[in-house]
Amino acid sequence: MTPLGRRLAAEISEHGPISVDRYMAECVAAYYAGRDPFGRDGDFTTAPEISQMFGEIIGLWTADLWDRAGRPQRVNLVELGPGRGTLMADLLRAARALPAFAEAIRVHFVETSPTLRAAQAERVPGATWHDDLGAVPRGVPLFVVANEFFDALPVRQEVRVDGEWRERQVGLVGDTLTFMPAGDAIRETSPARADYAATLAARIAADGGAALVVDYGYEGPAEGDSLQALAAHAAAAPLAAPGEHDLTAHVDFAALAEAARGAGTRVSPLALQGPFLLALGIAARAERLSHGLDPEARHAIAGAMRRLTLPQAMGSLFKVLVFTHKDWPEPAGFGA
Ligand code: SAH
Repeated sequence: MTPLGRRLAAEISEHGPISVDRYMAECVAAYYAGRDPFGRDGDFTTAPEISQMFGEIIGLWTADLWDRAGRPQRVNLVELGPGRGTLMADLLRAARALPAFAEAIRVHFVETSPTLRAAQAERVPGATWHDDLGAVPRGVPLFVVANEFFDALPVRQEVRVDGEWRERQVGLVGDTLTFMPAGDAIRETSPARADYAATLAARIAADGGAALVVDYGYEGPAEGDSLQALAAHAAAAPLAAPGEHDLTAHVDFAALAEAARGAGTRVSPLALQGPFLLALGIAARAERLSHGLDPEARHAIAGAMRRLTLPQAMGSLFKVLVFTHKDWPEPAGFGA
């Protein structure tokens, strides 16, 4: 068993089973604390690691909204769970197209992993780091970017036993971690995600700005059990190696939108990643990047664009939720 597995097993044998959300939170914290999991040699690949175009497009989206909002003199650009810092580095490079915007920005990273903070510092040396959103300075508008952040926040599960919903837990059978009790249906909610979205939206309602959340998930009604583990780009059992595999669950975007609306922001209609990136000009950007390159390099850029936008790749599974201060203009990328 893994070190975290041994610690949880000891706790369970002394005090009894723990909830699924507690298990997930422990696994995610241990997993990211000591590793950089991204890319071909890691466990999974995210959109900014596929192509620089992803962060660049988000940079142009942000610069455009800032411009149309009357060019506030100072903005906090906040990224939640920045991974290697790749998205932000690409975003800032694109933002330099509008020098006044680049000057207005202060970068704040919300990141708990010491290993990833070090990776982020290499790519974005001028950032300020925080353990949570509450520590980001108040009083100026904020742009918040969160790619594959919410899927790592814990979900709670309930299991139906004899017609009654009960909390699903992780217990021990012998020395083996096991989900319990057994039932005939499972449902998921995520108070942690809804709380986070509400806190985020309350900040935007108070200080101005917008949040752009990209993740994989669905827009209600809730699915069953979506908890999944990934190791070396392949599915694994969620209880197989606590803290050593990437553990995520699908994001319920309807629940996030409801929390954001409840906290006083305007929520744009949920967009699919593919149409969103295409509406913001990813094809033109790919064309521009390809200019003067050899056929192999052009092929790689076209392939990355397809992977990010095609429905059978990431284009439909990944979705874009934006919430904005009520007095701010409508963000780009959501149709006419
Ligand atoms: N956005 C990056 C990384 C996604 S992986 C990308 O797209 O490549 C999830 C990120 O969230 C990691 O950086 C991880 O360390 C961070 N993270 C997970 N749970 C967190 C929490 N509760 N608070 C802050 N950061 C967290």
